[in-house]
Amino acid sequence: MGHSVLVAAELQNLLEPEQLAGLDVTWIGATQPTPRGDYVAIVPLLSRWVGGTEFKYLPRLKVVANCAVGHDNVDVVAAELRGITVTNTPDVLTDATADLAWALILACARRVVEGTELVRSGRWTGWHPELLLGVELRGRTLGLLGAGRIGQAVGRRAKPFGMRVLYSARNPRPDFERETGAARVELSRLLQESDVLSLHVPSVPETKGIINADTLRRMKPTAILVNTARGDLIREEALAAALEEGRLGAAGLDVYLEEPAIHPRLLAAPRTVLLPHIGSATLETRRQMAAIALANVQAVLKGDPPLTPVFR
Ligand code: NAP
Repeated sequence: MGHSVLVAAELQNLLEPEQLAGLDVTWIGATQPTPRGDYVAIVPLLSRWVGGTEFKYLPRLKVVANCAVGHDNVDVVAAELRGITVTNTPDVLTDATADLAWALILACARRVVEGTELVRSGRWTGWHPELLLGVELRGRTLGLLGAGRIGQAVGRRAKPFGMRVLYSARNPRPDFERETGAARVELSRLLQESDVLSLHVPSVPETKGIINADTLRRMKPTAILVNTARGDLIREEALAAALEEGRLGAAGLDVYLEEPAIHPRLLAAPRTVLLPHIGSATLETRRQMAAIALANVQAVLKGDPPLTPVFR
């Protein structure tokens, strides 16, 4: 008998048999409650909350190997108190997520979704010099809220587009500044000067609701807001109001407060590009995320240090 482990059923097609060697896997579907029992590991998707109650009903749990870089779905403090290791999947999803942030930036700047809808509707009457005029990115300012792995990767991609890069973060990133010419500024300046503001901080108490009625009012009325981080960074009703009243240029969103539900006012608001949380969704990346999650499980169960612990 192998080690009893719980693994998200949705990962089954992305895993190779050798990655599951020595494991007695119970596959759990996203809508299924977390089972109780003598499981020693759980590999959840980011949609599954793993906290005090789960730890109580999984008394032999040694590791939560989250299949995401964000770990706001895991009560890491409760885990630490019980001596349970928490791991995530950093780095392998950085490029895919940065690419998607740029897909949203370009889609918003050049009104790609409105263009597609016009063509499909049959209402396109032909080339017109003022049809769907967008924003020229060259010479404009990209603001990054958070310049960790993904924020920096988004910033590096700004160079060939000729954008100036500003960022806000608690710690300076001198290598990133040298490479891209980016400048670290306070949040107030970031809000005021960004033509494109892209969010890359984790969801933690200090960042939840950081984009709200007040901060939105301090942004340029033409600015593009992009969120590929976590939905709860933005107050969705305040964002919808800003878009409805023309106080914000556009919003490109991949994540929402209560996924898969989207605030009805945001869904109806003009100038949005709304994606279904696909930041890391390339086959290569999703395979690597699943592989790292299982490698973390195998390491912890062998008594080795985890590959990518949330806290070292
Ligand atoms: P990371 O390398 O840890 O970067 C996080 C950045 O946020 C750092 O610059 C950090 O810098 C800053 N930060 C951390 N705590 C903060 C706080 N309390 N207040 C302000 N800034 C804080 O993470 P990453 O790999 O770039 O991922 C970023 C986030 O993207 C993840 O947490 C996840 O939620 C999200 N994500 C979403 C998708 C998707 O599918 N859409 C895919 C991957 C990741 P300082 O410590 O210097 O402030």
